[in-house]
Amino acid sequence: MTFTVPPLTDDDLARLSVSFETQPAEAVVNWAVGCFGDRLCVTTSMTDGVLVDLVTRVRPGIEVVFIDTGLHFDETLETAQTVNRRYPIELRVARVAEPAVPFHLSDPVNCCSAAKVAALDKALEGKLAWMSGLRRADAPSRADAPIVSRDTRGLVKVNPLATWSDGDVAEYVARHDVPVNPLVAEGYLSIGCRPCTRPALEGAGARSGRWDGVRTECGLHLD
Ligand code: SF4
Repeated sequence: MTFTVPPLTDDDLARLSVSFETQPAEAVVNWAVGCFGDRLCVTTSMTDGVLVDLVTRVRPGIEVVFIDTGLHFDETLETAQTVNRRYPIELRVARVAEPAVPFHLSDPVNCCSAAKVAALDKALEGKLAWMSGLRRADAPSRADAPIVSRDTRGLVKVNPLATWSDGDVAEYVARHDVPVNPLVAEGYLSIGCRPCTRPALEGAGARSGRWDGVRTECGLHLD
């Protein structure tokens, strides 16, 4: 796909983000694909295939990055396989380099930064923009997440689902028969690695089962 990347200032991105507030996620995806072409990828935690479903309707064959920490639940790895079979994507599994002592044992507070962020940095080399399934409804720490912004790498980060509620996701999953990680049905509403992911606490939000309260974000979205 040939394309010309327009020069986008931070002010341009902020304006675009505001303009997308009242537009459907498909419009955001269309803009991102048209703007960045092959230098755009999707990242997913394999909690479900909603973003992949949405994006592949616009751009079949897009690169989808899944970070494999080596500590995922079997269900998450199975979901990755299911999504890869179901959708026309180029799945890129970004494997985390394993230190002698796993980060979740040697440095649990910085484990995500040390492991996942480094793997994402590498996966994003050569890209101009990336899409994530981040939603404001995920957690209070995400309540003000923009739809379009610039990340700390200087790349454009696009969150097409930012405005979606849990109900919006459920409705999309049902309407399009989207694969969902089986752990969701067991109460794991935000899914990370085995050592630090539990079912969400009753009434405490989707991410209440993450990191045993040590922190609220993994570092991938701290821009
Ligand atoms: Fe480490 Fe947990 Fe983050 Fe996985 S989800 S990288 S084990 S802190």
